[in-house]
Amino acid sequence: MEYTLKRSRRRKTVAIKVHQQSLTVYAPYGVAIAYIEQWLATKQAWINQQVYKQSQHQDLRQFPLDSLQIRLFDELLTLHFEINKTSCWQFFANMNPPQLQVSCSGRVKKHTAMYQTQFEDFMREQLESYIEMRIRHYCSRMGEELPSNLKITTYKRRWGSCNQRRALTFNLLLVGAPHWVIDYVIVHELAHLKYLNHSHRFWHRVSEFYPDYKYATQWLKQHGASLQWVFE
Ligand SMILES: [Zn+2]
Repeated sequence: MEYTLKRSRRRKTVAIKVHQQSLTVYAPYGVAIAYIEQWLATKQAWINQQVYKQSQHQDLRQFPLDSLQIRLFDELLTLHFEINKTSCWQFFANMNPPQLQVSCSGRVKKHTAMYQTQFEDFMREQLESYIEMRIRHYCSRMGEELPSNLKITTYKRRWGSCNQRRALTFNLLLVGAPHWVIDYVIVHELAHLKYLNHSHRFWHRVSEFYPDYKYATQWLKQHGASLQWVFE
């Protein structure tokens, strides 16, 4: 039986841990190897059982993929999926590239759907806090009152919308775009608060607060389709 031995001064007893198909033995200094191996032999059945149980989980982890890379504000983000005690996400912003750990509870039947829910929950939070901050910035520059409502949703064919009740909606997929492109969509929707159409006056207002808007519309035409993500 292969194992890794970790000795510690503070430890008083021998213990074992099975993780990712490998066995670690924790022991105090001074305990003889012969004794450890004899003791391990008595634990063989339990160890086999643990390895078997974890291999069952391993199969589930391949859904949808063990890991993949995706863009967050046009920067690479590595995703890891795993079965865990609870369904949640954990973001490690300081790593290079940043890592997002997406977990699905072992009790959940539809893993892929839960992975997608957790992943989109994270992405929504990122986009929402960015847009909220920029809306405050542009509203004060444009002399507009804050919109009545802000919603993030997944649209097939549009990046944002604005209605007569001053409620703004943004496409969740924008979260993969660079900040300067998202800023354009924000200015576009805020300009609709004054003009609910695409008239000359409307575009004049957009260009007043976002002069290079043509670069942004071009970027969305070129890269818009690649912002899509697929969970299968
Ligand atoms: Zn528009």
